[in-house]
Amino acid sequence: MFLSPLGVAPLLSKMSMDVTFLGTGAAYPSPTRGASATVVRFEGECWLFDCGEGTQTQFMKSNLKAGRITKIFITHLHGDHFFGLPGLLCTISLQSGPATKTLPVDIYGPLGLRSFLWRTMELSHSQLAIPYVVHELVPTPDQCPEEEWKELSFVDRDEPFSKQIQGKTIYLDPAEDSYPLVDNEHFVMKAFRLFHRIPSFGFLVEEKPRVGKLNVQKLKELGVHPGPIYGKLKEGVTVVLENGTTISPSDVLAEPLPGRKVCILGDCCGMVGEGAASLCYEADLLIHEATLDDTQMDKAKEHGHSTPKMAAQFAKLCKVKRLVLSHFSQRYKPTSQIGEGDMDVSELKSQAELVLDGQEVVLAEDFMTIGIPMKKAR
Ligand SMILES: [Zn+2]
Ligand SMILES: [Zn+2]
Repeated sequence: MFLSPLGVAPLLSKMSMDVTFLGTGAAYPSPTRGASATVVRFEGECWLFDCGEGTQTQFMKSNLKAGRITKIFITHLHGDHFFGLPGLLCTISLQSGPATKTLPVDIYGPLGLRSFLWRTMELSHSQLAIPYVVHELVPTPDQCPEEEWKELSFVDRDEPFSKQIQGKTIYLDPAEDSYPLVDNEHFVMKAFRLFHRIPSFGFLVEEKPRVGKLNVQKLKELGVHPGPIYGKLKEGVTVVLENGTTISPSDVLAEPLPGRKVCILGDCCGMVGEGAASLCYEADLLIHEATLDDTQMDKAKEHGHSTPKMAAQFAKLCKVKRLVLSHFSQRYKPTSQIGEGDMDVSELKSQAELVLDGQEVVLAEDFMTIGIPMKKAR
């Protein structure tokens, strides 16, 4: 891992980042809306968030390649969010040539996911050609109604899981009120707690700030010409010139460029603790569920779900730049596909925009892609 002493990532040329929705429906997949699956793509790498039934065929219909998946995140263990996972892994494995993948696919999800995957693969005699590891998040009992809580810490504890899939067990960091998942050269990823019928999580993908521009004019005035010294300064190293002049990086570097932030929430009717609000603060993109419309708020809450108003209130609290609603009940059809007895999903957009004082809200549709442009200096 390379991180300069300034704590910022090196400046790469393009670093494209976008989000594609492969499934925007609740409860089950239908011809108009697949079950939950969202892909964040960064420089050709795919990170999959949730993997409802049929996600592999959604991949095939899209311009994304399932073979590019390096990380998978599961928000919670309701079937519409992870029943597609064993099938997807088997297909990626079938399509991968011998020894094409050496790095394992990292899978993050709630406690119990490792056991589910291991048993499914064992019972179906599926031998994956691709290595994978499962990192489990340990939920807290306040993430669901008391009667729904299941103590899973001891499930399969003594089973001879293949060492291959044994990842980390990740506990809540009480100081940050979040779960640390990934911290590499370019990104930090964390999980935070949501309240649902069963424990559910949201995920933060945050790009690290990038090194600001060098003030070439100033360097020239100091008698420094393009060369290795420029590189050192960009890496955050203080330089002493032959004439004894000391140049510290902050003298000649502009402010670091802020990184991009995307937050993807699992099913929820509320947050647990402060983690969600603090991590989602000023997100460039917040993807929040809105299963039912505002006229059915009581029903939504009873089932642990949100409405557009609830999602927008959270987005407003966090001052997010763009709110995207997803996980719609299958009764809400895209405007172009409304049949008899269907409801127009655009009503949900209006309900959310009302809370956000007209700020535009996006309704996710299957195969929609949203680009996240690089930021300029503040
Ligand atoms: Zn769901
Ligand atoms: Zn759910």
